[in-house]
Formats: sequence, structure tokens, C-alpha cells
Amino acid sequence: MAKHFDSKFVLDVPMVDLPTLIFSSGDAEQRARPQYFDAEHPERWFSLQQAEVLVKRLGMGLQKLGLQPNDKVLLFSTNSLYFPVLYWGVVAAGCVFTGCSPSASVAELSYQLKDSDAVMIITNATGARTAIEAVKQVGLPQERVFEFADPHDHNTKSGLPSWTSIWASESEAQGWTWRTFSSMQEAQTTTAAINYSSGTTGVPKGVEISHYNLVSNSLQVAFKRSLVADTPRARERKSRVDLLGERWLAPLPMFHAYGQAYYCVTAALMGVKVFIMMQYSIEKYLLFLDIYRITFLTGVPTLMVALSKHPNAKLFNLKAIESVVTGSAPLSPEIGRLVEKTHLRPGVQVKQGWGLTETTCSATGFAQDDEDDGSSIGWLNPNMSAKIVPVSEHGFEQTTNLPYAVGEIWIAGPNVMIGYYKRPRETAETIIYEDGKRWMKTGDVGYVDSRGCLFIVDRLKELIKVKGLQVAPAEIEQTLLTNPGIVDAAVVGERRQDGEYPKAFVVKAPESQITAEEVQRFVETRMSRHKWLTAGVYFINVIPRTASGKVVRRQLQKLKPGSKASN
Ligand code: AMP
Repeated sequence: MAKHFDSKFVLDVPMVDLPTLIFSSGDAEQRARPQYFDAEHPERWFSLQQAEVLVKRLGMGLQKLGLQPNDKVLLFSTNSLYFPVLYWGVVAAGCVFTGCSPSASVAELSYQLKDSDAVMIITNATGARTAIEAVKQVGLPQERVFEFADPHDHNTKSGLPSWTSIWASESEAQGWTWRTFSSMQEAQTTTAAINYSSGTTGVPKGVEISHYNLVSNSLQVAFKRSLVADTPRARERKSRVDLLGERWLAPLPMFHAYGQAYYCVTAALMGVKVFIMMQYSIEKYLLFLDIYRITFLTGVPTLMVALSKHPNAKLFNLKAIESVVTGSAPLSPEIGRLVEKTHLRPGVQVKQGWGLTETTCSATGFAQDDEDDGSSIGWLNPNMSAKIVPVSEHGFEQTTNLPYAVGEIWIAGPNVMIGYYKRPRETAETIIYEDGKRWMKTGDVGYVDSRGCLFIVDRLKELIKVKGLQVAPAEIEQTLLTNPGIVDAAVVGERRQDGEYPKAFVVKAPESQITAEEVQRFVETRMSRHKWLTAGVYFINVIPRTASGKVVRRQLQKLKPGSKASN
């Protein structure tokens, strides 16, 4: 049996519900300060004190409408200034928040409405038609569709009633408050959010996240961010940030665990100023990082690649950035170095974190002042344990000795989900009770080094086997991205009668004349034979990715050979 190891950090997780955590964070002065801003229109903002009033109005309003504890409310929208208010309000009502990707089709939205048992949908104006079509398909009454309109707008754009029509009046809501918990067990078993993830296999599943999960995960992240090393540079960094306060930009979608946990929970807890981006474009991203003097980057590899390769990137001043974390998919350390060289002050490093929807958001990461070359995903979060479980059929080194044994990473901790909603079988396949702990199989393959830092080397489900040898798509992709003629790449296994062969889908840099043969040669000169792109190289305009930056490999696998690049 694989040995397990524990996080070097321990912290107390209080018995508290999410709204209480948010609205009792910091002192009264801090809560009265402008905290959430619309990045496009910074004159639009709210403080936590103002938000609390709105949350009570929405919470009471939902109850008056007849919603019961544990009823699910679905939000179908891009990021917006009031996204956190809606999220907190739904949870304060005792209901469960579920967010759907704003680019979902009618079928995908219907799937989530049905799967989550949503009793109400709030949609932005752009999604109204899709939402109306989807509720028809699942048999939800149209009176349960509201527009996520700006609270200051008198008319909605879609003609649907505004979500503000649900709100109780300010005077009514004054005496109302949310229900608090009387036991830790209640905090651990009361669902606050259902986020969607396919887990290690199969279709998207509703990941039930409890109040306790959210409270734990935000405290874990805040704890690591609060650590200050005993060095002059670390103290100088802290004093610079303390001067004006931390400022985060929010380009990542908040329907996803990453954006939700960082922007709607941890930032509120930490009293950080958040500038919410409704729509991402690299030009606006760079501009906002510059003009708002952003101090902390919540990144994904696609953002890092865009930052490192944008032709006008040097026109922007990103020197206020004090730390960068990137997660959600592997990032090649070379790209991190390039971002550092192009944009950051000396000493500021691009570091990786790792987590899953099933771990609320974050499971590992570095403290701000830790040094790393960008290849590790950092330390386990406080109160977490991990073990590296041998995966024999994939041929990883078969040893249970730590460190450096490679295997599937299993983790345990207070941020691990309740389970998959209404899916006891999938939950039982993923959550394993062993040696007194509740382990979650992550489907990620990695190892721990002698410092106790973790590394990801592959994902089980994506492994390509070539003539009995392993090929990690991520490894080839990282190599391809070091070529200046390539801005994005994804590798999948092509299955043939006699086994699998790697093939690459490549997005060329603007003006690049690189040919398929040159791409193949680039890999051949850098990697061992079984990793060569023997099934070919295909040029495409964009690599299909999920909103959180992960390659949609199945879509690539379906591309017909007719689309092969000809040079
Ligand atoms: P999600 O549930 O959408 O957050 O996806 C979780 C998965 O993303 C993990 O199981 C990993 O496969 C992958 N992932 C997240 N962060 C990293 C990272 N820093 N390096 C490699 N893979 C990552």
C-alpha cells in the first residue's frame, strides 16, 4: 500500500456558513471600502457592506418566491460585476448555486438544468433565447426565467423579468438574515454550489461543494498568500502591497470552480480589490493589468502563452505584479520564464498551482516568497494529505517509496467535494476510504520530490501508448510551445490497428511560415523516438479548449485526415 504524506501546514477551520464568512471578514472600515469593480467601467463598484444589503434582499426574495432549502438556481452568464452578489444571495437563501458556461448550446444547458434539478434560471440578455429554449425542453415554467440585468436598468434587454424583481425591499430585508449552522456536520453536508466536471471519466457530473469545502479552501489559499518569508525582498514586497492593498483582475469565468473560489470567496475573505472582466481579450487584459496596477495574477496557461507572445506586450507596464499563479493545465516552465522576462520585476516568478473542481478549487501551490523554477505544482494545501498510488497498467515505475515514485495522486482534505450529485456509483469510484482517510482519486499522474513539492507528469485518461511505451501529450505540447513559430498546440493519440501514434494540432504564430515537416523535425531533435509525431501535424486556427483552458481532445480526435496541413 502506498504511503501517504501530510501537508506541512495546519490551520483551524471554523464552523461557519459561507455568507457569515464573507460578511464578517475584515473590520467595518474594510467592509465599507469599494471592493468589487467593473473593469470596463470602474465607476461601477460595490463594497461588502453594500453587497450584504443586496444579498439579504435577494435571499429573502427567493424565499418569498417559494424556493426551499437545497433548491438549485442556475446562472447562465458571462462574468459581471454582480456575479458574486448573485452567488452569495442564492447561498444565503439556503439554495444551491450552479453556474453554466455562457457558451453552452441549448442541449448543454438543458443537460445541466435537468441534471442539477434547477428550479430557476437567471440568464444574461445574450443567453435569453437559449435559456428559453432550454427550459421548454426540460419542462421548467417560463416564469422561472429571469434576466441577469444591471440593477440600475429599468428595462431588461430581453423582455424577461429582471432578477431584481425577485428582491425583497430594502426595509423588508433589514430584519432578515440567513440561517447559520449549529454543528460542524451541518457545515460539511450542506451543499452551497454544484460545479460541473467530467472527473476522471465520462460525462459532466455535478460536483457538490459544501459550505465547509468553500470555507476551508478559501482559508487554505489565504493562509499561503499571507505567509511572508523572512527576507528583505519578501518584506519589501509586503510593504509595497500593503501600501495600496492587493488588486486582482478577474478574467477567468466564475461559473468554473477556479474563478468562483478565487474571486467570489477568497478575495472577499482577504479584502482584496477585484476588477471583474466581462469579456476576455488579450488587449484588454494587458490594459487592465497595467492601469489597475494589478498585484496578483490568477492565470491559466493560455493567458501565460498570450502574455508571453503578444506582439505589443512590451507597451504595457505590468511591474505592479508581485506574484503569479497559474493552474488548470500544465504550463511549460519556459513560457513562465518568458512572461517573467517580458513583464515582471526581477525576482517575481510564475509559479504553478494545481487543483480540481472536486477539490473546490485549489489543492496545491506555493507561498508567495517560495522559490521555484515553475515546474512543480507546489506544496499540499494546509490540512491535506496525499499519496502516490502505483498505476501498473500504464507502466510507471512500480515503487511505493517516496519521494519520486510516479503514480496516480490521491488526496484527502477538508476541501474535497461531498460527491457527484445523484451519482453514488461515480462517487464511490472516485472517493475511497482507506487507512482512516477519505481519499479522492484525481486521475492525475505525478510524484513528490524530496522537498515535499508535487509534480504532475500526465493525466491517466490522456495517456498515449506507442509500441508499449508511454507518451505524455503534455510533454510534447510543452516542447512545441518553445518554438517561436507556434503559439498553441495539442497532441492526441491516433488509434490504428497496430497501436497508437501521436499527432499534433498546431496554431502558427502570425507571419510564421513553419511547415509540418519542420514541426516534426523540431520534435525529433528534442525528444525520444516514440514521442515523434508519426501520425502527422495538422495546422488549425484555434485549439478547442474548455473555458478553463483545457484542451478538448475528443474534438481533435474527430478531425478528418483531409484537414492535414499541406505545405
Ligand atoms: P478542473 O476540474 O476543470 O479544474 O480540472 C482539473 C484538472 O486540471 C486536474 O485534474 C489536472 O488534470 C488539470 N490541472 C490543473 N492544474 C494543473 C497543473 N498546474 N498542471 C497540470 N494539470 C493541471
